[in-house]
Amino acid sequence: MAYTPGQFHQDQSIANVLDDVARAHRILELEGHGDMSMGHLSYRDPFGRGLWLKRGNLALSEVVGDDFILIDFDGNVLEGTGLRHLEWPLHAEIMRARPDVNVVGHSHAHHSTVFAATDQELGPYNNHGVWFAEHGVPRFTDTSHIITTVELGVEVAKQLGDAEAILLRNHGIAFVGDDVIEATLAGIFLEKAARFQLDLLSAGVAYELPDPAESIEKRRRIYPPKAQQNYWMYFNRKLERVEALQGIGIAQL
Ligand SMILES: [Zn+2]
Repeated sequence: MAYTPGQFHQDQSIANVLDDVARAHRILELEGHGDMSMGHLSYRDPFGRGLWLKRGNLALSEVVGDDFILIDFDGNVLEGTGLRHLEWPLHAEIMRARPDVNVVGHSHAHHSTVFAATDQELGPYNNHGVWFAEHGVPRFTDTSHIITTVELGVEVAKQLGDAEAILLRNHGIAFVGDDVIEATLAGIFLEKAARFQLDLLSAGVAYELPDPAESIEKRRRIYPPKAQQNYWMYFNRKLERVEALQGIGIAQL
């Protein structure tokens, strides 16, 4: 796979977004999504050529702006060097099915993956769960295997529907957004909501599902674009403080 300088280096707008997508990887590691060199985000190429996918053999905490390869929707590598993650069809098929989605993430975040292994429905039991109040979080149970075929990718995308995330039973999660901020918050909030609900379940006390209509209204009220930007900046400041002390590539706090 010979590297030829192409659009990536010619178009600063893509490079700028990929810097943010790289930061999103490192933020997600800080927020409990790290699992050795597994997990990856992708960004839809604005010129319609395909998607920019994190390359393989790197931890989430190690990703910088140059660590992306451009693949088309059939998985052909168009630009960049390094390994193509086996689960590229997960990204390609979600983007094919969801024109509104520009960023897709996949990880094995611990609490979300524990939650995915249960038969419980994720609910808006705290503010983080409210992110998913409108569409819920479906659970993909066709296989516990990784999503390495187009057929499985198509099925995950179909079952994701209009939702912001999907649980992959005995495997992990996928989460999406129309930009890097939305996708990152979806990943972080799913992990926090799953942890909260597991705590709730293990407390062994009675609890009730909050009113669904109220939860949808609450979602609109507490997560307007301005608030999303505010939380994104918070997570970036947190990342900068950690990296100022430890550099890029930390495994855990
Ligand atoms: Zn996986």
